[in-house]
Amino acid sequence: MTSSPFLSHALGRIKPSATIAVTQKARELTAAGRDIIGLGAGEPDFPTPDNIKQAAFRAIDRNETRYTAVEGIPELRTAIAQKFKRENGLDYKPSQTIVTPGGKAVIFNAFLATLNPGDEVIVPAPYWVSYYDIPLVCGGDSVVVQTLAQDGFRLSPAALEAAITPRTKWLILNAPSNPTGAAYTAQHLRGIADVLLRHPHVWVLTDDMYEHILYDGFEFATIAAVEPKLYDRTLTMNGCSKAYSMTGWRIGYAAGPDALIKAMATIQSQSVSMATSISQWAAVEALTGPQDFLVPRAKAFQARRDLVVSMLNQASGLQCPKPEGAFYVYPSCAGVIGKHTANGAEIKTDEDFARELLEAEGVAVVHGAAFGTSPAFRISYATSDAILEEACQRIQRFCASLR
Ligand code: GLU
Repeated sequence: MTSSPFLSHALGRIKPSATIAVTQKARELTAAGRDIIGLGAGEPDFPTPDNIKQAAFRAIDRNETRYTAVEGIPELRTAIAQKFKRENGLDYKPSQTIVTPGGKAVIFNAFLATLNPGDEVIVPAPYWVSYYDIPLVCGGDSVVVQTLAQDGFRLSPAALEAAITPRTKWLILNAPSNPTGAAYTAQHLRGIADVLLRHPHVWVLTDDMYEHILYDGFEFATIAAVEPKLYDRTLTMNGCSKAYSMTGWRIGYAAGPDALIKAMATIQSQSVSMATSISQWAAVEALTGPQDFLVPRAKAFQARRDLVVSMLNQASGLQCPKPEGAFYVYPSCAGVIGKHTANGAEIKTDEDFARELLEAEGVAVVHGAAFGTSPAFRISYATSDAILEEACQRIQRFCASLR
């Protein structure tokens, strides 16, 4: 189908999202009666807090059910500006913010508004699948810079410097990271900022979606706060999905220079128009209501991280780094490459590993090639301890069965 002359060149440059595909596959297999543990979906298992749900019910009762301003309702834009000030020490006016239907729409708006053919976007790997593909569909090129497990999967200033060309338009930063959970201290970001100061044509999109899921007292930092001279070429992005367990409500948001936000709004006005009115009212409550559940939830995720890291490191052939945040681990499966399953299938790649694991033990994970760093795989541990324990036992059993 993708080679049909009917289809666009842009489509030919991208693939379906692997994270979404694995989640869907797990759902289908479960519906077909198989005993599947889905560790593919990157979404919190906690319900949306009650006060947020109630705010949505009230919005419906008030008939807040019509089109809103393209950039979002003023109440939410004000709440976003206040959030950036309160939590990140960033000074944005409400008019410098935009609300979108989910985080991906922030990236689409920004890149459709700014990329021309040949423009380059630097994407540190392992990357969330969509960071790589969205620049391509918007007409640009993605330039992958590998990071290493031994460097904590953090982009080094030297690697960034080496990747910058006259065509570089954007650098994407995401910490805590999907898929590795790696986070950056202010000190790490200082090094990145120093490189960017030497290259004034490079903008930075920082996706801070996992800001509230950090462990062991790690302090969150974001680049425009670390280096205010970068304010006028930084797009600071965040959303309600991960912090407030609101993945299905589809609320992403961003703040940046006036001209960029205006350009993004032009794109949005000709595409999805705006985020859902009811979700926007729910998001006002999320950002302005009680925040006390955030720390206990991060603690719950930390306990799950510890469980998963320890159990995966006991699986033969796997090596699992201990991440600082988010709810993902990104173990290497180099030790099982070249081995065979009980059925005689050879594990040549991490895609083979993920497929055979699903087949043999019913555990769905996302293969590392989708994130640009192999051989590895991603586990989302946003599920109960009991399920994680069972899943890790199955993974251990699968690895032990390989010859
Ligand atoms: N952020 C989640 C993930 O990585 C949601 C799925 C997606 O949009 O990629 O699994």
